[in-house]
Amino acid sequence: MGTLCAYVPDGILLNGFEFHQNCALVVDPSSRVIDVCDVEKLDPAIVQQFCAGQLFTAAPVLAHAHLESFDAPRDTFSRESFAQWVESLLEWRKSKERLSPEESAAESRHQLAGNGCGLVATHVSEPGAEGDVSPDFPEVFAFNELFVPQGDFPDFPDFPYRGVALHAPYSVSDKIARQVFEKYAADNIVSIHLGEHDEERQFLESGTGRLAQLFLRRGLNIKDTYYPSPVDWLDAVGGLTSSTLAVHCGNLRADELRRLDHAGVDIVFCPGTHKYFDRPQPAFAEVSGLLPALGCDSLASNQRLDPLYELRCAREIIPEISSQMWWQSLTVRGAEVLRRPDLGSLAQGKWGRVLSFETSEFGSASSAEQVCDILCSADGLSRKLITLNSTGD
Ligand SMILES: [Zn+2]
Repeated sequence: MGTLCAYVPDGILLNGFEFHQNCALVVDPSSRVIDVCDVEKLDPAIVQQFCAGQLFTAAPVLAHAHLESFDAPRDTFSRESFAQWVESLLEWRKSKERLSPEESAAESRHQLAGNGCGLVATHVSEPGAEGDVSPDFPEVFAFNELFVPQGDFPDFPDFPYRGVALHAPYSVSDKIARQVFEKYAADNIVSIHLGEHDEERQFLESGTGRLAQLFLRRGLNIKDTYYPSPVDWLDAVGGLTSSTLAVHCGNLRADELRRLDHAGVDIVFCPGTHKYFDRPQPAFAEVSGLLPALGCDSLASNQRLDPLYELRCAREIIPEISSQMWWQSLTVRGAEVLRRPDLGSLAQGKWGRVLSFETSEFGSASSAEQVCDILCSADGLSRKLITLNSTGD
């Protein structure tokens, strides 16, 4: 039988706008936060654990990844066009030397956990790449990804998949996309790469460009119907709904983003991948009220799997959005888009899933703004994921 425990670190960043010193997190034996209060107001009967030298935040949430391709030789992949990068990736995937999907998932999770990721959502295209069902960090939210440019609806593996993903507008037929939104949108999140680059736009607009040429060379279907915008395509297949999680969206104009936002479509931005491809600045900051969640994609198009690296890249690519809002994006927003109200900040009723930093690396920071500025700019901060008041703690 466990007991209540009050954790008292040097400082607690409850969310991007609330930082407290002399504050305690009271956590029940099932690791739920039941109170956040001043140390002076603590019931003396509650066991206190002083965590001197530590600064607590909620554990980050990455709302998009692929646990495949951990060992992809991304630096050798051509990035001149997206189609060329796809060809490099497909060529490498033929290699027998590479890690199995299970091994890649284990390595990816290990790196994510070491860098402080509490929950990661992943598109699974190779069976086994969802990872095992161990309770280790990060928790995995797996989407079974469909890459079906032609033909019929494939059979789905069941457990442990928790959602359905469409690879992208160009790589699933309109018929299958319609079926997926009809069947799953009522009670599930449907995740899809959307509005990622010009080659996707050209493919949808006119069936031309390097990506369309690649499809034709490989004997794959291109569209029978053309769409002036990826958002028009989404609308036409029934996906302009609040069940949709649109990933990337860095190529969409402000009016297209506004349309997604008005329809309740959630957006996930992958800053590390955006940087890997050296793409132009996205228009997110031009749409008031829009805050994307953050994702890391895979190591086939990113230098590392690290929530704080994504945070730094996001701030660097779009400095018009404040550090505090980017921290919200990595935590609160990530939990929101994955429908996880039990995560994303430290407050009554949330899990005590904490990322612990070393106070000494934050200098004299004493406000949420100062703490978030450091989180969004400092490279190599020491950090450790902890579940408060768990048996393993
Ligand atoms: Zn992706």
